[in-house]
Amino acid sequence: MTNPSEAGDLRLSHVTKRFGPFTAVDDLSLTVPQGSFFALLGASGCGKTTTLRMVAGLEEPTTGEVRLGDRDITRLRPYQRPVNTVFQSYALFPHLDVFENVAFGLRRRKIREVRSQVERMLALVQLDGFTKRRPAELSGGQQQRVALARALINHPQVLLLDEPLGALDLKLRRQMQIELKRIQTEVGITFVHVTHDQEEAMTMADTVAVMSAGKIEQLGRPAEIYEYPATAFVANFLGQSNLLAGEAAGQSGGDVLVSAYDQRFAVPAPRARADRGEVFLGVRPEKLGLVAGEADVPAGHQSVRGVITDSSYVGVSTQYLVRTGWGTELAVFAPNSGAAAPLAVGSEVTAHWSPEHAFVLHREPGEG
Ligand code: ATP
Repeated sequence: MTNPSEAGDLRLSHVTKRFGPFTAVDDLSLTVPQGSFFALLGASGCGKTTTLRMVAGLEEPTTGEVRLGDRDITRLRPYQRPVNTVFQSYALFPHLDVFENVAFGLRRRKIREVRSQVERMLALVQLDGFTKRRPAELSGGQQQRVALARALINHPQVLLLDEPLGALDLKLRRQMQIELKRIQTEVGITFVHVTHDQEEAMTMADTVAVMSAGKIEQLGRPAEIYEYPATAFVANFLGQSNLLAGEAAGQSGGDVLVSAYDQRFAVPAPRARADRGEVFLGVRPEKLGLVAGEADVPAGHQSVRGVITDSSYVGVSTQYLVRTGWGTELAVFAPNSGAAAPLAVGSEVTAHWSPEHAFVLHREPGEG
């Protein structure tokens, strides 16, 4: 029907959606490059489904514009858009077998050569051999694949996925994440995937938009938003962060100087989003090392002293809590290499990190 290479980028410009007095999506602008895997990530109620529904045409923006390439699709009916949606509930036809579920869109459009197209789609989602089964005779993961094949057979230019893996158990979810990524690469169309699971978004997407309260907090490649979060919200939403409340006193020699709890820390200026006033000094738990004494801190590292208050063995790493002299608790994830014995609760330790692994964020007055 349509050629994915003709689709163009998906663009939302200043899109707002109000339900009565409530603003669900607030002046949101973003561009999804054609052929990319894009994830909208956020907690329940942040507006990600509403955003997706406006792209699908199931909701009309109160203000703003949705474009696909050079076409304004803001007010097109859902069926007029080259867009398909896969929902968490799959919405398969229970009385039809797998073949007929996938063939449905083609039959409705009176397209011939149904068999070869359906077979190609079922091979793509690795369900060949299941054609005669009804949805009730399939596992959750298999039903999900049927839903995917049924959407893709219409050759949409954009595929929208609304928590499509939400009903699967953890192991199957992980498998399907890798599958979805493979399928997207193979078909080459734009995927927009809504999820509240940060690991899912990071595993699959080329670009992740982190949403909160109807707005985008940060948009970037997974490694970028994880390594260099823009706000305390993003730092906490994506994995765990140690955020120390401090004051920045400007730049010196390419570093931003942060005072926190009577200590001074220098952070390379490119890793600082604020260089004056109230800030957070952030370090990820896996970027912290623990040594017994200050003398063992690697050259060039920064450090704080503390006492281990908790230690949990979680296979690949041991996760420690370290209470610092000023009462803050730091999370430290130390890889279990097998060589070193775990440190005991109650041990006095020094937590250290390389300045290149720290980041500085703006802090609202009184926050932290
Ligand atoms: P979830 O992960 O729980 O689906 P979400 O981030 O997708 O959450 P939305 O479904 O987009 O969130 O909803 C955003 C906000 O808009 C919520 O507070 C929700 O209650 C509200 N909302 C959504 N649809 C409507 C509606 N039709 N009428 C009134 N309020 C709505």
